[in-house]
Parts: sequence; C-alpha cells; structure tokens
Amino acid sequence: MTVALASEPQSETYESESALLMAGRPVANIIRKRCNEEIAALSERFSILPGLAVVRVGDDPASLHYAERITQSFSAAGLTVTVESLPPNALRAMLQAELARFSALPEIAGIIMQMPLPQQIALKDVIDVLDPEKDVDGIHPLNAGRLVLGLDSYAPATPSGGIALLDHYGIPIAGKSALVIGRSDVVGKPMAQLLLARNATVTIAHSRSRNLPQLVHEADIVACAIGKAGFIRGEWLKPDAAVLDFGASMVDGQMRGDVDFDEAVKVVGAITPVPGGTGPVTSAMLLRNTVKAIRRALRA
Ligand code: NAP
Repeated sequence: MTVALASEPQSETYESESALLMAGRPVANIIRKRCNEEIAALSERFSILPGLAVVRVGDDPASLHYAERITQSFSAAGLTVTVESLPPNALRAMLQAELARFSALPEIAGIIMQMPLPQQIALKDVIDVLDPEKDVDGIHPLNAGRLVLGLDSYAPATPSGGIALLDHYGIPIAGKSALVIGRSDVVGKPMAQLLLARNATVTIAHSRSRNLPQLVHEADIVACAIGKAGFIRGEWLKPDAAVLDFGASMVDGQMRGDVDFDEAVKVVGAITPVPGGTGPVTSAMLLRNTVKAIRRALRA
C-alpha cells in the first residue's frame, strides 16, 4: 500500500504497509513560521537584533557545509550569523579567546561551538569560557543540569525536535515505554531526559547493552542515535511502535538512518524517514533556541 506523508506534497510517497511517515519538513515549517513571527515582532521593537556566532576549527568539508547551511537559513529568517573559522592546529588559548570574546559581546546572543573538537581541545576548555546564557546548543553543564531538574534551559535541538515530531504526529508519550539507543551528550542523554519529563518509562541502551533486540521489542517508542546505517532490524521492533531515527550515516553517497527503513516501515506504527525526518526539525529547533537567546539578550 502507498502512503502519502501527512501534510507533505502528494508526490512524496513511500511504500508502506501501514506506518505513518513522520516527515520533518511540515513540523520544521511550523516552528520556523513561529520564529519568523517572533523575529518580526522583535525587529519592530528593537532597531538591531543581536545575532548568532558559529565557532569552528579545521577544514572538514562536512563541518564547513553545516556552517554554510546555518548561515543561509538564519539569514533567510533575518538574523545575522558570524562564522569564526580557526585553523586545524588552533591552540586551546586561541579558541578560548574567541569564545570568551563572543560570550562578552552584546551583538551576539547565541553561540554554537561546532563539533567535533580537534584532538588538542577538550569539551571542558569550551565550557570553561562559554556563557551558558548564549549556549543555544545546550552543551554547557548548567543547561544540561537545568534540563535534568526540569528547569527552563536550552535543550539540545535534535532531541527537542524528536519530541516536537511525536507531538505533531499525535504519538502519546506519557506512560509509554521508551527506548533511547545511544547516550551521547547532544542526542541520547537529553532525549532520555525529555521523554522522562513527558512521563515515559525510559531505558537507555548503548554499545555495552545486552540483548538489544529484546529491549527494542519491548519499546513503544524507539529513539535511535547510534550512527550505524540500518543497524536496527525491522523484526526487532514492536508492531505499532513509533520510531525516531536520528542516525545520519553516508553510505554510497546516500544518507541512511540507524533503522533498516524498508523492513521497519512494514512493522511499526510511525517512523521518521531518513533523510527528511529528524534533520529538518533539528535546524528549526536551533533557530527556536536562538530566538529565545535573542529575547534573553534584549530582556524582551
Ligand atoms: P555518538 O556520540 O557517536 O554516540 C553514539 C552512541 O551510540 C554511543 O552512545 C554508543 O554507545 C552507541 N552505540 C554505538 N554502537 C552501538 C551498538 N552496537 N548498540 C547500541 N548502541 C551503540 O553519536 P551522536 O553524536 O549521538 O550521533 C548519533 C547519530 O545521530 C549519528 O549518525 C549522527 O550523525 C546523528 N545525528 C543526527 C542529528 C539529526 O539532527 N538528525 C543530530 C546529531 C547527530 P557507547 O556510549 O557505549 O559508545
């Protein structure tokens, strides 16, 4: 049976037995529209809005491409982006000086430190000088801690986008059994916290977990952030489960998720496609966090 993506152009269709395709673009469009309205309202009140700084090290093409994409999408929303690119061999002191400068500058409301960091620089070196009020990626321990305590924080964009997808497609969370596969600080751990805050019963799996197929089979909601294409097999999944696939691995020039999509789509109740699922919502959530940082900076 052919199922059209909800709220997507009819030409974008996927072969599926019954699964709801949780496309990211419609969700991202709604978030962006709200952000644009907020930016327009702020621009009426303040002649100049503070912008976003993206700090990056090295010349990795994927990292450069990411910085360009942020610049394009934020500029389209009427925001200023300053990209500071440091050489691959940048010293810790150099990076810290840039981050400290942006942390102090009133023209900058939000700062993204692009990952991965080079070998010579540790995450601690970044958070030692990053103003948590400008930490729109939610990497600072103060924001991570506030998220755990259920206080207002900058929740990392990717997992916040996962919750937005579940909400948009009407997937209930409270009381459900949720499995998060992957425990990175930017995706897995905050995803687990956000699901817990929404009253799911949460299990976190990682590379040392035993019997992953069984854990997957028990979950109503599966959120994967592993980085291994097609690793989660369709037969592991519970019928009618909702699957958020954050995986983004390039295989033969194509982006692939962590879940074997062709198998899973025949089994589950709802699933995000890759590409076009969690990715677009992540960048919209980053914009949302930045608008929040701008309001904070302007005390608006
Ligand atoms: P990461 O830091 O490399 O973490 C990967 C996690 O997967 C680790 O916790 C690791 O466990 C776990 N893992 C590895 N092999 C496993 C296995 N066989 N069974 C169970 N768990 C296993 O990765 P990340 O930064 O979270 O990113 C994960 C994926 O999401 C990547 O493909 C990345 O490109 C993608 N991503 C997507 C978005 C988006 O917007 N869609 C945003 C960010 C990242 P250990 O902790 O035990 O090593």
